[in-house]
Amino acid sequence: MQASFIDTHAHLSMLPQGALPVEALLSRLFQEDFGRIIDIGTEAEDLKCRLKAFSQFDRIRFSAGIWPSKESIAEREPLMRCLEQHITAAPQGRLIAIGECGLDRHHNRQETGADLKGEHELLELQLDLAQRQQLPIIIHSRQSAAETGEILARYPAVQGVIHCFSYGIPEARSFLQLGYYLSFAGTLTYKNAQALRDVLQFIPLDRLLLETDAPYLAPQPFRGKPADPGMVVETYHLAATLRGISLEALQTAIVQNVSAIFKTPFA
Ligand SMILES: [Zn+2]
Repeated sequence: MQASFIDTHAHLSMLPQGALPVEALLSRLFQEDFGRIIDIGTEAEDLKCRLKAFSQFDRIRFSAGIWPSKESIAEREPLMRCLEQHITAAPQGRLIAIGECGLDRHHNRQETGADLKGEHELLELQLDLAQRQQLPIIIHSRQSAAETGEILARYPAVQGVIHCFSYGIPEARSFLQLGYYLSFAGTLTYKNAQALRDVLQFIPLDRLLLETDAPYLAPQPFRGKPADPGMVVETYHLAATLRGISLEALQTAIVQNVSAIFKTPFA
């Protein structure tokens, strides 16, 4: 596949139906130079609707997983059964990862009575599912690097991605040692994000991924607006400059990384 843009993490069904409907936006991106978008799940049952809405686009791939909300932590056992049913029923080749799932110490805090043990268990159940299904995992980790790393280390057979990486170089080093890829969102372009730019320059090129997390975290100059996958272009340009390589070399590296971690063939 020739060099092209890939957005490794977007929530397409959450994009606002603005002046340009989401389907029209996606058609335009794929006519231009978009090779792949990975549409990410957050709830046990959302895969079916997302497949229905977006599998007409053969360059979209899907993940399915359970985000650690208070409700999903409380209901984790029935929800995991439901998630597993949806995953086993998904058409071959379209579902390429489990997630996003993980730990969020911004939303779930001990002081406010959050069930941290339940949150750990919800992540462990999904790591176990990833291991059984031989799929990579997409990890959400906010203000909980050490805690996340301790759990991931117990599942050495599972490979994955730390999405929307938000930590410094020491944490990056730990996740790299566990074999994880690091994915950077539009936050990389924010004025106060020098620490993230330092990480982007530090990590090996063969562990780097880029994403929008659309509709969240629009890169500069769109910050504050809802993001769409097309905006990942801004993050690519900045990342290429920071790495001192051409845009095309960066695109080629990311196509290789996506193929390696998600085992998704590019034709
Ligand atoms: Zn996300």
